[in-house]
Amino acid sequence: MTAMRVLVIEDELPLAELIQAGLRSEGLLADTAERGEDALWMAAASPYDVICLDVNLPGIDGFETCRRLRDAGVDVPILMLTARDAVDDRITGLQTGADDYLVKPFDFGEFVARVRALARRPPVRDPERLVVGDLVMDPVGRTLTRAGTPVDLSVKELQILEVFMRNPGRVLTRLQILEGAWDQGYEHRSNVIDVYVRYLREKIDRPFGRTTLETVRGAGYRLRVEGPD
Ligand code: CA
Repeated sequence: MTAMRVLVIEDELPLAELIQAGLRSEGLLADTAERGEDALWMAAASPYDVICLDVNLPGIDGFETCRRLRDAGVDVPILMLTARDAVDDRITGLQTGADDYLVKPFDFGEFVARVRALARRPPVRDPERLVVGDLVMDPVGRTLTRAGTPVDLSVKELQILEVFMRNPGRVLTRLQILEGAWDQGYEHRSNVIDVYVRYLREKIDRPFGRTTLETVRGAGYRLRVEGPD
């Protein structure tokens, strides 16, 4: 399990970019596309937790997109974004298989709350803690400690370390790490993983005199499971 992944279909690019940046700053993965047709193949290609669909789109509109997604067997929760607070729009949206709707312009905080509520993985009330040796992560509160000492990580560093901590002792390829911690908007260059692993080692290993984030030659990386020295 990795970060929550959201697909946003919105043809107003400034709004789409704003939503994407906002979701990413919340630690979620966010892909965007401008056309309903894109939602059909993207939903088939990636495991999304929530799809946000603008109603007014070039090509097939949000309602038709929603209908086709459901016809294709996609059961991901769908949030419709409508510019009109028309009762007809709400009814049409829900009839086509949408789970919720939000009227534009909307408050971003409310948008994120709706997305989280719709996701199959609602926020854990008792913060879930990942424990590997003396590394303890709270992925919801986005905190990490090693041997009880807080370690300050960026959102991306936390997302990558979370992939390792959910697979302790397992060798992960660069591709597996990329898929676990990035959305499709990212240019997939495998050396970015090498760069982040170096950052992580500087924060979780070197200050503690440890070498738990190992290079496995020809394969990838592994978070070694070990207790305190
Ligand atoms: Ca639109």
